[in-house]
Amino acid sequence: MSYEEVQKVWMNGRLVDFADAKIHAFSHVFHYGSAMFEGMRVYKTRSGPAAFRLDAHVDRLFHSCKVYRMEIPYTPANLREAIFDTIRANRFEACYIRPVVYRGLGALGVNPFKSPVDVLIAVWKWGQYLGDDAVQNGVDVCVSSWNRMAPNTFPAMAKATGNYLNSMLIKMEALVNGYTEGIALDNAGRISEGSGENLFLVYQGRLLTPPLAGTILPGITRESVITLARDAGYTVVEQQIAREMLYIADEVFFTGTAAEITPVRSVDRIPVGTGARGPVTERLQKEFFSLLEGESEDRYGWLTPIPVEDAVSR
Ligand code: PMP
Repeated sequence: MSYEEVQKVWMNGRLVDFADAKIHAFSHVFHYGSAMFEGMRVYKTRSGPAAFRLDAHVDRLFHSCKVYRMEIPYTPANLREAIFDTIRANRFEACYIRPVVYRGLGALGVNPFKSPVDVLIAVWKWGQYLGDDAVQNGVDVCVSSWNRMAPNTFPAMAKATGNYLNSMLIKMEALVNGYTEGIALDNAGRISEGSGENLFLVYQGRLLTPPLAGTILPGITRESVITLARDAGYTVVEQQIAREMLYIADEVFFTGTAAEITPVRSVDRIPVGTGARGPVTERLQKEFFSLLEGESEDRYGWLTPIPVEDAVSR
């Protein structure tokens, strides 16, 4: 990953140079993790750059902020425009977009109400998150010794920066033990999700994925894959899943904006199925990527073209 090509960052309504995109050391967010964020991608489609599920990501950002009583000082339409402006200012055709809503410089102390709600939008180029050949060959993962947060502790449905301390524990443990990623269980020992991905299993021809019950992020890729799979004729069940299902499933894969659809080829050194990408995963990847690249029709309206500058200034 490199930020060399990043020129501008959007901060509270202004595009500032990368070198000046700074926040104060006394900002509330730095001390208490009081920020909500999003991560989405712009793909280079046949008809030009387009953001994948822009509205769903903007909605989730507003939902995260609502849970944490943060009033975003912009409308969803303002933010969409700001995202377009940031992409254009950096002249990117394909990139990752990271809006962050955070408590800025006000008063330190746990009470966040005395600190303003600031917004920034960063964009950068981000390739394959779990390694170059991960999408094709799959990744080796472990079950983490760290659980996801329990319901009614840290709200998992809010994409809060603080939640990612838990994700870091999962990720670091996996990496130092030679795995690419870790799968966390929930506080009852059932499958939850990866450090930055949702999880699906294929078992006896059906797709299984953990429910939105307070331990997983409501992934937008997860929801997209559920839609694509159902349209392709698969049964998809959102249900609690026992850990051992990971070892007996025919296929396992991660979904996420960064990970896209990544097959899992082993869990705790036990091969998943044949130990290679399975046919259902491959079929869903094909559906997913052909839609993103503009090869197949955008039948769900998931792609938002990035308006070109001329059209905006006219
Ligand atoms: N779970 C966690 C913990 C994540 O960080 C992410 C990435 N945002 C996901 C799941 C996948 O969500 P999405 O498909 O919306 O990127």
